[in-house]
Amino acid sequence: MREYITLSLSLLFVFSGASGQRPNIIFILSDDHAYQAISAYGSRLAETPNIDRIARGGALFTRAMVTNSICGPSRASLLTGKYSHKNGYTLNERKFNTDQLVFPTLLKENGYQTAWIGKWHLGSLPKGFDYFRILNGQGEYYNPDLIGGGRDTLRMTGYVTDIITRLTTDWLDGRDTTKPFCLIVGEKATHREWLPDLSDLGAYDGKDFPLPVTFHDRYEGRRAAADQDMTIDRTMRLEEDLKVHADYERSGIYNRFTSEQKKVFYDYYENKISREFDRRKDTGEALVRWKYQRYLKDYLSVARSLDRNIGRLLDYLDRTGLAKNTVVIYASDQGFYMGEHGWFDKRWIYEESLRTPFVMRYPGVIRPGTKVGEMMLNIDWAPTLLDMAGVRVPEEMQGRSFLPLLKGERTGWRKSMYYHYYEYPQPHHVYPHFGIRTERYVLARFYGPADFWELYDLRKDPKEVRNVYGEAGYEKVVAGLKERLKGLIREYEDQEAMEILERAVK
Ligand code: CA
Repeated sequence: MREYITLSLSLLFVFSGASGQRPNIIFILSDDHAYQAISAYGSRLAETPNIDRIARGGALFTRAMVTNSICGPSRASLLTGKYSHKNGYTLNERKFNTDQLVFPTLLKENGYQTAWIGKWHLGSLPKGFDYFRILNGQGEYYNPDLIGGGRDTLRMTGYVTDIITRLTTDWLDGRDTTKPFCLIVGEKATHREWLPDLSDLGAYDGKDFPLPVTFHDRYEGRRAAADQDMTIDRTMRLEEDLKVHADYERSGIYNRFTSEQKKVFYDYYENKISREFDRRKDTGEALVRWKYQRYLKDYLSVARSLDRNIGRLLDYLDRTGLAKNTVVIYASDQGFYMGEHGWFDKRWIYEESLRTPFVMRYPGVIRPGTKVGEMMLNIDWAPTLLDMAGVRVPEEMQGRSFLPLLKGERTGWRKSMYYHYYEYPQPHHVYPHFGIRTERYVLARFYGPADFWELYDLRKDPKEVRNVYGEAGYEKVVAGLKERLKGLIREYEDQEAMEILERAVK
């Protein structure tokens, strides 16, 4: 670890030596935004010109991965540089322990101004930041309540993504310009239930989205996949998720609206979409397809505002001259299913939820148009931010700085990663599991109410539809992977997983 830090710091010095300045850092972290919905990743669903702008001006990570694919735990790993079992935040809806070491504290001690603006949703209030202004819990899409900034909780009029951008540029305007800054922008977009900016309603209504090839997956030979509760067919709700004849008086959304907002919303979802639903009278396969189309249209409309607001922030950096010494990162807290395997949501060690979008520009350091294919993890984010600021990465952080990767120093980088998911049974009934992902394989142990292994051979089965655990010919592969998995569990000190691993499958 120490060698790494020395190497990357010296390279950093060479690259940023011209100005001698430590960079400002803006980390935009969205919620549930799938790489399949980003054009820089080759999306066939939507254009995201501003996220692409970051990628074009810097680096696109094609194998950025998370260590526990749900919201709060990913944010906790960002703050601590550690796995969930080490930072204690294994499940959503807990209280994050802010007395532990978090990277903003170290930046602050080393002369950075730190701020978190937007969605936080970790139960406790942010610590280690000079400033925070956060949504109340999960937060609201329309006219949201904001906490912090030395003020009482305040309801602000407008759409959440616009408001977060406005608070961000206001804070940048008023900051102490004698210090470099690190600002985390926590976006609510694109979290369920996908309520778009009113000006984006219907933005994709003219489009007919292709079904993913695994949309009709029947999960043969894959018990965990068969037992989940996250399909567009059975789990996605017509009312709350797709806004068909939804009772928004009861849900409270209408209470937040001005009468004008309410009219626009009602005209679209009640007068247009719900009537279309009534008229069609779809059932069975036709209904599932209609739900998929509606899901994507709402989701992508929410993402449209997200991308537009990223553009506003990039324009602000250009206008103020900050762009040339500011690192800009865009990432999601994890990946998301856009109908693959018939699903929405996340949670699995499988590809679409394990991988997350991650693009980053760093003028003078990252060559524009760089692609990084190494396995980079969300526990690496904190060490990298510290490394960029010239702050020593504490030994207790489990991730490592990936700055060397950006400069072509790729030897000694990990060839496999460790994953551990916990939340069960609610929501979505995904069995707890841990496992290893290598260049070619996924080996996972499901536990709790389940007790079995799965193996996927990604070279032969990139869509992960065929569990080959126990099949003849894979004995040596399985033995080797179990050995490597055990090594990772030991390295990351996951005692619970070690005990399960050493128990034979019942
Ligand atoms: Ca999330």
